[in-house]
Amino acid sequence: MGLIVQKYGGTSVANPERISNVANRVIATQKKGHDVVVVVSAMSGETNRLVALAEQFQKPPIAREFDVLLATGEQVTISLLSMALISKGQDARSYTGSQVHILTDSAHNKARILDIDDKRIHADLNEGRVVVVAGFQGADEYGNITTLGRGGSDTTAVALAAALKADECQIYTDVDGVYTTDPRIVPEARRMDKITFEEMLEMASLGAKVLQIRSVEFASKYNVPLRVLSSFTDIDAEPKGTLITTEDEIMEQAVISGIAFNKDEAKLTVLGVPDKPGIAYHILGDVADANIEVDMIVQNISEDSGHTDFTFTVHRNDFEKTQSIVKNCAEQLNAKGVVSDNNIVKLSLVGVGMRSHAGIASKMFQVLADENINIQMISTSEIKVSVVVDEKYLELGVRALHVAFDLAEDSAE
Ligand code: ADP
Ligand code: ASP
Ligand code: MG
Repeated sequence: MGLIVQKYGGTSVANPERISNVANRVIATQKKGHDVVVVVSAMSGETNRLVALAEQFQKPPIAREFDVLLATGEQVTISLLSMALISKGQDARSYTGSQVHILTDSAHNKARILDIDDKRIHADLNEGRVVVVAGFQGADEYGNITTLGRGGSDTTAVALAAALKADECQIYTDVDGVYTTDPRIVPEARRMDKITFEEMLEMASLGAKVLQIRSVEFASKYNVPLRVLSSFTDIDAEPKGTLITTEDEIMEQAVISGIAFNKDEAKLTVLGVPDKPGIAYHILGDVADANIEVDMIVQNISEDSGHTDFTFTVHRNDFEKTQSIVKNCAEQLNAKGVVSDNNIVKLSLVGVGMRSHAGIASKMFQVLADENINIQMISTSEIKVSVVVDEKYLELGVRALHVAFDLAEDSAE
């Protein structure tokens, strides 16, 4: 007998029939003798609907009030799932984030979980109840409702699993695991049985939205066994899924595990800035002061003119704001001007095997060149190579790389 935390995403609770199916899965897990804590997302499309509503008043919406609004989506599903469980004869109780004391910092819309008081949950489990907790939300030390950023229910689930010392955290979604790339873009993508925390973290950071980045960080930090599964498979079938685990648990490590892409970036270049100390600090300091995160940065050495170009990327939501900051900065620096482009995409190859294999980057560049795809920016780390290309090449690029690196189902082994 163990303790399992199960999380069901928006598509898994999209309508009453699916909520009823989720209840059946939860009951089946209970019948195997486990205690079950369930975390649910808002019904599919609901959070987007709430975002659109708030934006009718202000864009971006006032952070504190935005959180009060967004947190309502999950409150609907916790109550409906508890009703479904109780109507099927399984005692259950629903709780919002603040009711189970999910304490966060006060960074509205992207709060971090600091602590969870597990007393109430344990008391219910001891009474034989299933505990249903609203994902994506908590409260700060002053009792203000906070939310954890889009996709945050994954993090609620992992944080609860860590706090409760659960035997496993199961993330149920609309795909049956983590694939070599998004199966919506490449239908031949292959499900991985296992992937390391490190690779999953890179995949998530580089755009694979199957797990929120912070949930993987949390799982890695607290060593929570984390599994991604489908809620749409036959309930009696042997579950497949993907286990996210440590490197030594994986016997045969592929050189490349997967390809991630991120459509949420935008690129800005300050042209002809003086090539002297303090320039990068001047430009990026102003951007950082506006609380805007910068991703890739490229600065070339200048030839003889003493001037250089400085390019970086930011989240697309921050594009306009960054543009005006950088234009100001360019004037102060007497730069030639600013060019910007928000029709870019970042493609990344990820794999811990890269550490011991040379030539991965050059092969990637060759594949893209063969498809006539121009590379605008490059960045590398020990276990990833990322390139920025025009967004019209997203599908072509991902598919070509998927074939070239033998990631498809039938090319395994
Ligand atoms: P949920 O609503 O259950 O949280 P998400 O939409 O957040 O589900 O995440 C599941 C989706 O992630 C899949 O439908 C898939 O399109 C996408 N995805 C992106 N990259 C990958 C990948 N490498 N493996 C599996 N799914 C991926
Ligand atoms: N409902 C929130 C969202 O759509 C949180 C989640 O689903 O994880 O982002
Ligand atoms: Mg999600």
